[in-house]
Amino acid sequence: MSLVYLNGQWQRPEEAAVSVFDRGFLFADGIYEVVPFYQGYPLEFEAHFARLENSLQAINIPNPHTQTEWLSICQTLAEGIANANAIIYIQVTRGAEYPRQHLPSNSLTPTVMATASAWTPPETTAPPVRVELMDDIRWLRCDIKSISLLGNILLKQQAAQCGAFEPILQRAGRITEGASCNYFMVKNGVLFTPPKDNLILPGITRDWVLSLAHQCGIPVEEQAFSVDDLMQADECFLTSSTREVQPVGFIGETAIANAKLGPITEQLAQAFRMSRPQGPALA
Ligand code: PMP
Repeated sequence: MSLVYLNGQWQRPEEAAVSVFDRGFLFADGIYEVVPFYQGYPLEFEAHFARLENSLQAINIPNPHTQTEWLSICQTLAEGIANANAIIYIQVTRGAEYPRQHLPSNSLTPTVMATASAWTPPETTAPPVRVELMDDIRWLRCDIKSISLLGNILLKQQAAQCGAFEPILQRAGRITEGASCNYFMVKNGVLFTPPKDNLILPGITRDWVLSLAHQCGIPVEEQAFSVDDLMQADECFLTSSTREVQPVGFIGETAIANAKLGPITEQLAQAFRMSRPQGPALA
C-alpha cells in the first residue's frame, strides 16, 4: 500500500490515525470522493473536483484544497501504485471535537485523508450480471457523496444474500440507482437514465457514458423510468468508476436482452475503453 495523505502529511498506513472524537467517526459527518487513475492519468478530474466541491458545500465544510493541490495529492498517491492504475479515495470530515455534540462548533478544522489502492481496469466487457430490485431505503440527499453509507451497505448485503451483483433501487415505482452505481436502459434504440436530482449520485461515469453516447449518435433521454419500463427494456447496464460499463442480464428472475450482451451496451463499453485518459488531467 502506498503512503496515506492525512492533514497535510504523508504517513505510512499503519501510522495514519485520527481522533476518536472525529465527527466522521462519531456521526459520519463528512464526504468522500473516488477518482480512477489509468497509468497515472485520472478520468475527468475536473468533474470529480466539482462533485467534491458540491458535496462539501452541501454540508458546509470549506474545501481544504484547490483543484491543483488535490490533483497533486492524487497523482502522488497513484504513483505509489504499480503501473499507476489506481483508485484514489478522498475523505473530508468536519473534524474532531470534545465533548460529543450533534451541533458542530463553527471553528473546527476538517480532517483530510486520501489513499490509493491498486486496480485493474477491465480489459474486455464483463459478462452480464444479475441485479436485484429493492426499495430505496436511503435518505433524500443521495446527490451528496456522504460517508454515511449505512443504507447502501444494508442494501448491498441484502443483494449479496440473494446472490445478486448489485441492488437496483426503486422509489414509488421509479428506478433511482444502485448502492454504488448508476443505471441505464435501452428501449427501441434510445438510451435512458434517471435525471440528476436529489435521488441519485451524479456519477462521473454516468456523464462520461452520456457524452460517449452523443458522440456515437445514440439518442439519449435523461428521464425517470418505471420498474415496468425496465422489465420491458431491450438492454440494461450499470456504470461506476471501477466497473465502467457493466452489462445487466437479469433483474431478479427476469432476463433482459435474453441475458446476453446487447449491441448498444457493447458499443458504449468499447467506446469507454477507447476513451480512457492517456495524458495530463488539466490543460
Ligand atoms: N451511485 C452511487 C450511490 C455510488 O456510490 C456511485 C460510486 N461508487 C455511483 C453512483 C457512480 O459514481 P461514479 O461513476 O462517479 O463512480
